[in-house]
Formats: sequence, structure tokens, C-alpha cells
Amino acid sequence: MADLHKLAQMLQELDDQMVACMKCGMCQAVCPVFAESLNEADVTRGKIALLENLAKEMIADAKGVQEKLNKCLLCGSCAANCPSGVKIMDIFLKARIIVNTYMGLSPVKKVILKGMLTRPALFNSLVSVAARFQGVFSTPVNEIIGSSCSQWLSPVIGDRHFLGLAKEPLHSAVPSLDSAPGASGLKVAFFPGCVVDKMFPRVGHAVLKVMAHHGVGVYLPAGQSCCGIPALSSGDRDSYEKLVAANARLFAKGRFDALVTPCATCTATIKELWPKFVDGFDATTKAQVLAMSEKAMDVNQFLVDKVGVTAVDKPTGGTRVTVHDPCHLAKSLGVRKQPRTLLGANRDYELVEMAEADRCCGCGGSFNLAHYEVSRSIGRRKRDNIVASKADVVATGCPACMMQISDMLSQAGDRIAVRHPVEIYAETID
Ligand code: SF4
Ligand code: SF4
Ligand code: SF4
Repeated sequence: MADLHKLAQMLQELDDQMVACMKCGMCQAVCPVFAESLNEADVTRGKIALLENLAKEMIADAKGVQEKLNKCLLCGSCAANCPSGVKIMDIFLKARIIVNTYMGLSPVKKVILKGMLTRPALFNSLVSVAARFQGVFSTPVNEIIGSSCSQWLSPVIGDRHFLGLAKEPLHSAVPSLDSAPGASGLKVAFFPGCVVDKMFPRVGHAVLKVMAHHGVGVYLPAGQSCCGIPALSSGDRDSYEKLVAANARLFAKGRFDALVTPCATCTATIKELWPKFVDGFDATTKAQVLAMSEKAMDVNQFLVDKVGVTAVDKPTGGTRVTVHDPCHLAKSLGVRKQPRTLLGANRDYELVEMAEADRCCGCGGSFNLAHYEVSRSIGRRKRDNIVASKADVVATGCPACMMQISDMLSQAGDRIAVRHPVEIYAETID
């Protein structure tokens, strides 16, 4: 069982952070899960009420507490709208660590987090085997989106329309890189993240093409691990610490000005969560983690703010593109205008805004697996807004959002492509 002293300390920290909540209910107005269920237990105020008696509630019904806590996208919409500045995400993550440490991980999560994610070489091998055989079990359904469905896998994945694993992941095509700064005088460390590496290597290639074009040196070390968010959001602090420490050690070997990622979730995790969950590290690792966190930056932001990419004066239009703002990019990091500037740098595209561009798409990582019907209802609203914008393409800076939006558009039979802004910008470079 858990280290009781550590758990008691975390319970105390939770109490201290929760006193800031005035129970005003402003979080209710923006919570996508509450909008579907209209259940007070699903919104922050309800969850905080539960956590105020956490120790007692855990003894009475630990499983019930775990289920209520997990019914949340961790989208941060509530935190962005909270007038008291309650550190809602910290509270939810700490509470998940407490409850899941007390309860233990489910066998499935144990296999995924402890058996696979923390062993990147094994994880890569298993994914490449799955990529080789995926065609046998799936049928392509929408060539614009590149989605497939599968009767064989429906007991596990339901009627989802999914994007296949890449035949050649980024780490196979470009195992490592360490190039010197060119004309820009800048050098970045490149952290593609698992989903870009394994499902959207084309996004990783676009990043490398753009960096080379702008004379930005790249440090891409082999053997990168996941940023740790699947472990942290599952309350598995041990796996989280293993992943973060491995990355910190690896990147400490390089010299760079910024650590760039094309994944909004990776950026927000490295930038915002890593500095908050460092107590378990020794002094050297802690310093490496904090240094990496300090330099983390979204790729759109890096290209616009540091490299100086600007929109062209007179776009000729042709292809209409709309933008979905990932919660982790817009609400957590305040990056909203840079993806639009990057798209505006391609004169073949015309930017059309959709309604509620920054409303959550409903993915939420493992939320999508555990609560697919809620996730799909939230996603349908996003799909309707995309279709109403009359766009030919929807661009978004988070590969998880790309997967969710692809599923929603594909299930509705829409012929709208889903892309990352950096891909569209990379088209301007010969
Ligand atoms: S908006 Fe903030 S202060 Fe108001 S109820 Fe929600 S968490 Fe509490
Ligand atoms: S993080 Fe998102 S889903 Fe969770 S309570 Fe806040 S607004 Fe609702
Ligand atoms: S946030 Fe998602 S994509 Fe990024 S490293 Fe973590 S699991 Fe992989």
C-alpha cells in the first residue's frame, strides 16, 4: 500500500488549494462534460465538494470517487474561467494520484503504463508490429481524412473511425539529428511526442523541413519517451517520474535555445505540469526537468515569435481553412494567434473562423476510451461548427484533437481534411 505519509501530505495540499473556491459556479458554464450530462458531480464545483471530504469518501466508496474524478477531460476550460484562480488542474491531478495510489491501477492501465509506455524500445516494437497487420483488420472509409473502421476490432474500439498507424514512424525515418544553427543562429531540441511519431510522422517531417529552411539547428536524440501525461492523469506517479526523468537525462546532453513540440498536450505538460510535480526527483534530475520545461515551446509559437514568420499581405485564397484551438494550446498556454499567422503565410489558403473555435473537441486522452458516448456528443458539436464554417480543411496544433476531429468528420461522411498548421506552412517551402 501507499506511503501514507506522502498521501496525507498531498491531502493537506489539496485542502489548502481548495479553500480558494467560492462555489460561484462560473466553471459550470464552460464545462463540456456538464453541458452533456447536466450533472453537478461532473463539474468542478461538484468535484471540489467531493474532494473536501476525500479521506472520508475514499473509505466509504473509493471506486465511486475514482469514477467521478475520472469523468473529466482535463481540458482546463473551468480553470480558464475561474474568477478565483483556483488551481483546478493541480487539484484534479493530485486527487487522482491520491485515489489511484490508494486503489491501485487497473490491470489494463498497469500493462499500458508500466509494461509499455515506460519501455520506449518495446513500445516502438509493439506499435510497428501492429502497424504491419492493421490493414488486415480495417477497411478504409474516407480517403480525404485517411480514416478506416473495423468490424474485427469493434468489441474494443466500438464504431470509431480511426487513422492508421504510420508505416514508417518518425523515429525510423529520422533516428536522430544534431545539426548546427544556420542563418537564424537558433537551435531547437525537437520533441515530436508519441502520436506525431507513430501516427502523424508527416507533421514531424514538416517541422524538420521548416527548421532547415529557416536555418534553425535541430537536436533530435534517439530513445525519447512519452511526456508522461497518460501516467500522470491516471494517477500513476511512478511511471510519470520514470518517463520525465528519462527525457530530462536525454535532452540534458544537447545544447539548444528552445525545446519545440508540435503536440499541444506535450507542450502544456512539459511547460506547466513538469515544474509542479518535481518533488520525487534528486537535485540533478530536478534541475534538468526544470531547464527542459523552461525552454518548452509550441512549434507555431516558435516559428512566429522567434523565427519571425508573418502572414502574407494578399492571400489569393482557394482553399478554405478553419482553426480548432486545442484546449492545451489556447487555454493553458495562451497560444491562439500564432497558428493563424502560420496559416496566413500560405497564400493559397483563406482563413475562415468557425464558431466556438476554442471549445473542447471532447478527446481528453483516456476519457475518449472510458466515456466514448460523452466524448462523441461533445465532438459532434465541434464537427457541426467545422461544417458550418464551409472550410475545406481544419487545422489544429494537437495530434489528439486531429484524431478526435477525424473520427467525428469521418463518421458524418464529411470530406474535410484534418491537418496541422505546420504542414500547411511547410507547403510554402520548395
Ligand atoms: S469557478 Fe472557480 S471559484 Fe467558482 S466554483 Fe468553479 S472552481 Fe470554484
Ligand atoms: S477540466 Fe474540462 S471537463 Fe474537467 S471539469 Fe473542467 S471544464 Fe469540465
Ligand atoms: S501528450 Fe500524448 S502525444 Fe504527447 S508524448 Fe504524451 S502521450 Fe505522447
